[in-house]
Amino acid sequence: MTVNILFAATESRWPQYEAPLRDALKAAGVTDYRLATEMPPEEVDYIVYAPNSPLRDFRPYVNTKAVLNIWAGVEGIVGNETLTQPLCRMVDAGLKEGMVEWVTGQVLRHHLGLDRVLARQAGDWCPEVPPLARDRRVGVLGLGELGAACAEALARLNFRVAGWSRRPKDLPGIVTQHGDDGLRAVLAETEILVLLLPLTAETENVLDADALARLPGGAVIVNPGRGALIDDAALLAALESGHLGHATLDVFREEPLPADHPFWRHPKVTVSPHVASETRPSTAAEVLAENIRRGEAGEPFLHEVDRGAGY
Ligand code: NAP
Repeated sequence: MTVNILFAATESRWPQYEAPLRDALKAAGVTDYRLATEMPPEEVDYIVYAPNSPLRDFRPYVNTKAVLNIWAGVEGIVGNETLTQPLCRMVDAGLKEGMVEWVTGQVLRHHLGLDRVLARQAGDWCPEVPPLARDRRVGVLGLGELGAACAEALARLNFRVAGWSRRPKDLPGIVTQHGDDGLRAVLAETEILVLLLPLTAETENVLDADALARLPGGAVIVNPGRGALIDDAALLAALESGHLGHATLDVFREEPLPADHPFWRHPKVTVSPHVASETRPSTAAEVLAENIRRGEAGEPFLHEVDRGAGY
């Protein structure tokens, strides 16, 4: 039977994904298939999807076996009540690699004080030797696919890493915490805080004024997770009071960040335009093809979203 795959992850992605998907389907042994950006809804077996797709009403897709998201984050689709089919999120080796590089780079930037060095190029000789990573405490909120990979990479560089997740977790070389007390314990010990939580009803504003106040003075925030994890007004207040040293933000409540947003002009904020990492078509295609193979073989899908938990 022909497997019908609708590519609905926005049309601009189609030229990047078509060839890798065809290669990956072949490698996965899925040979009898139709892959297209349009087809009658009732014929569709699988939808390759992104939450910014114009497709919002899944009711006509009565025979669809799974919706395969090419993004890691699903907050833009998980609450869609027309979507009753299994929803899988993206876990991609390329996405993970990129995030580890970006987070490690940002942590090293703040750890080594590179901004201060760059600001002194007009002749200001100031021999300020940074501490070793073994003496720097980094906290990672979210120890999933991306957070755990970043925490492990930072621990390999000798940083003292503590992490926080919803459920208890055991990661070699990392002090792991969960629950409200666990969050407070991580915050109290963190000089550089990395946010890699999904945005859910429970994680929205997790960094509110109270949480920010628990960080030691001079702490730095690095947020490649989601903008709404942080209370923007509380963050600005903590930066302005001098309690926080800096915030490097890759994600925002509204994207692109509006031109008049105070983050753009704030001397202690670095705005990064949601580029920390991206799904890479060649590696992501293998995950999509494997899930289609699984669906056809009656095997459980990889990375199915827990609708109750919201991620
Ligand atoms: P994931 O594998 O689902 O991991 C999520 C982690 O957050 C898990 O450790 C989970 O705990 C924890 N968590 C969830 N709810 C929590 C809560 N209420 N309290 C404490 N911990 C909680 O997700 P991922 O693949 O690592 O991706 C994380 C996020 O990164 C995505 O959702 C997306 O928002 C963001 N992202 C950003 C970019 C970018 O370019 N800026 C790119 C990709 C992804 P458990 O381990 O107990 O489940």
